[in-house]
Amino acid sequence: MNPFWSDVVHQLTPYVPGEQPKVANLIKLNTNENPYPPSPKALAAIQAATADTLRLYPDPNADVLKGAIAAHYGVATNQVFVGNGSDEVLAHVFLGLLKHAKPLLFPDISYSFYPVYCGLYAVPYRTIPLDDAYAIRIEEYVGECGAIILPNPNAPTGRALDLDAIRLLAHNHPEVPVVIDEAYVDFGAQSAVCLVRDLPNLLVVQTLSKSRSLAGLRVGFAIGDAGLIEALERVKNSFNSYPMDRLALAGAVAAIEDREHFETTRHAIIASREHLTAAMTRLGFEVIPSTANFIFARHPQRDAGELASALRERAIIVRHFKAARIDQHLRITIGTEAECAALVAALEAILD
Ligand SMILES: *Cc1c(COP(=O)(O)O)cnc(C)c1O
Repeated sequence: MNPFWSDVVHQLTPYVPGEQPKVANLIKLNTNENPYPPSPKALAAIQAATADTLRLYPDPNADVLKGAIAAHYGVATNQVFVGNGSDEVLAHVFLGLLKHAKPLLFPDISYSFYPVYCGLYAVPYRTIPLDDAYAIRIEEYVGECGAIILPNPNAPTGRALDLDAIRLLAHNHPEVPVVIDEAYVDFGAQSAVCLVRDLPNLLVVQTLSKSRSLAGLRVGFAIGDAGLIEALERVKNSFNSYPMDRLALAGAVAAIEDREHFETTRHAIIASREHLTAAMTRLGFEVIPSTANFIFARHPQRDAGELASALRERAIIVRHFKAARIDQHLRITIGTEAECAALVAALEAILD
């Protein structure tokens, strides 16, 4: 017990991010980064912002970025919140919208940051088990609750709910906030952004980290009713007035506006995901149907931890969670076609 620490710190169980190895020439398929470079227009905008104006604080309200996101998604500017990565947006969501006397509900197998925020902000919660096929069953989200959050598609399974299910979930709980974490939605699932106009309790959270190849820039956003957004602004303005720096603002606006680059790269990843799923199925893996930039797969005869170690010996890193129900699965980020081919070749050799 360190006497200098607060009680809160003594109680924390922090999130453990996927490894960012310092060695070169690894095929890195462990943290769902995009294998394609960011939009050249975003890089040019960041370079242009690397100027004398860095003396000055950025716009605390990020109005230009909110405007670009609002225009792209067909919503009003006061329906948009932006933050330093969607992890920061989510942190403010937990404190500002999900913390109530009644428990927050989320899936038992889900983004492992959720219980961490609950610990940090003392949010009571109850997890709802996925079914045996690792699917979320919205019928189970019943009973007393203060709020609901789920990723769609879910992580680390990659399985998505359709829009009708999301609409029904938010509609059935009009008295509580329902938050959909759409970190991976651009890789084939249906976004719930089109529902926010009719559902004042629905908040959608997205990120530029995955589908816009900007994990290193740290930009995330939320879209919802202006009342929900105001709660997030109140938390943000009680925490950090300038979470979005000038480089992030410039790069994010250009990335959102470069639709062509976005479409090309996300479709390349979707195509590679389908190729990789077919190849791994041929190797005997059971692959959960994914609409994300990763697949979640197990081999009925081979231990997942041993497969992950064997891949690592061949300079390929994938994610293995030593957690209940999923310790025999591997989560594999979709790389370039060449990276996916190298993975398949390595698996063939290991399984031989
Ligand atoms: C990657 C991820 C995030 C966080 O993304 P940021 O890089 O912080 O924007 C949020 N939710 C889920 C489910 C994720 O996988």
